Amino acid sequence: MTTIELRGVTKVHGTAPTPVVAVAPTDLTILDGEFFVLIGPSGCGKTTLLRIIAGIEHPTRGDVVLDGQVVTDVGARGRDVAMIFQSSALYPNLTVAENIGFSLRLAKVKRRVIAQRVHDVASMVSVDHLLDRFPRQLSGGEGQRVAMARTLIRSPHLFLMDEPMSQLDAKLRTELRAELVRVQRQVGVTTVYVTHDQTEAMSMGHRIAVMRQGSVVQCGTPEHLYREPVDLFVAQFLGAPPMNAWVASAHASDGALELRWGAQRLVIDERSAARHGGARALDGREVVIGLRPDAFVIDPVGPIVVSPGFAEQIGPHQLVHATLAASSVRAVDDGYVRSSEHLAPLIVAAPSGYEYDPWRAMHLDVDRERLMLFDPVDGRRLTSDALAVSSPA
Ligand code: ATP
Repeated sequence: MTTIELRGVTKVHGTAPTPVVAVAPTDLTILDGEFFVLIGPSGCGKTTLLRIIAGIEHPTRGDVVLDGQVVTDVGARGRDVAMIFQSSALYPNLTVAENIGFSLRLAKVKRRVIAQRVHDVASMVSVDHLLDRFPRQLSGGEGQRVAMARTLIRSPHLFLMDEPMSQLDAKLRTELRAELVRVQRQVGVTTVYVTHDQTEAMSMGHRIAVMRQGSVVQCGTPEHLYREPVDLFVAQFLGAPPMNAWVASAHASDGALELRWGAQRLVIDERSAARHGGARALDGREVVIGLRPDAFVIDPVGPIVVSPGFAEQIGPHQLVHATLAASSVRAVDDGYVRSSEHLAPLIVAAPSGYEYDPWRAMHLDVDRERLMLFDPVDGRRLTSDALAVSSPA
């Protein structure tokens, strides 16, 4: 099994005056047996980092270390890694069994042994009933399972996957996600998985590294990143629907903190204010309030008044889409975008039985423990102490 260390790994394409920094200097340690997810928007450098780990791409600077050995100059073949991409690309004229057993046949393994191994890995990913079919007779999800089996049979030291499910429909993705997690936990092979789908990252990864513009912004367990994001970018990237955020001004009042926007006021007691650095430190500042949709409490005398527009029923609860007289903030690839001063969109998770009236204002209170404040310029989370960039597994 394998531990991966990236030491100052950097990738720059082209030369001055227009170099493209695909990966800024990156230090990362991926533990033996870990399911590690690289996530971020398109073009943030995920695939480049994966290809550098695989040995397909050479870093401009820095080293890749596998199990303590520097392998920066070792090609993909010498690293014993297996990669799965978006499309499975099976051999069309070979059956499923022949596709899965192909690498063993090349290695001149005995037929009887190949047949047994093919059967074992095929049943592991639930394609043992499809062994005599050809790739054209498989659905997209079955094809990806066969690709997984073909990779698993090699017992690689390292599994690298680049959006392997992006071409499948939602139901298949959910099924295959669970399957992949089960197999990875069973086999215990170190796995690096690239995606831009936060649901996949949150549900599959032991740890996640969130990337933006070539850099790892934060790395940690899914729960840690969700509860303690270092900035508004991470806060809005993880969690669906994304965290609501709008601009307010902060004022100290008798130790408590009062947040004001438009005609609205939200008071946070001294103890809660201390979590954001304290009322005195924030007095007079502009801040961004961050609240996840389920951090609101519907309360007829709640201090926040919004105008409901429509609701989406999503089973256990409904998502009420409303607006608020404020300026909302949304993280984009390279910064933050504000809406107009008067129409901040807002999503509230309400109980499924709640009947909103589109003609009447909706009053909300908030769970103060779940309220977050961010710097309006660089999006950094405002806390009593700076949050660490990395966290333990
Ligand atoms: P996606 O999710 O869209 O696949 P990604 O996060 O995997 O994106 P990369 O493919 O790693 O991103 O690319 C990172 C950056 O490097 C992008 O800005 C891309 O345009 C740039 N890039 C990649 N390959 C080259 C190249 N050969 N020459 C110049 N720029 C490149």
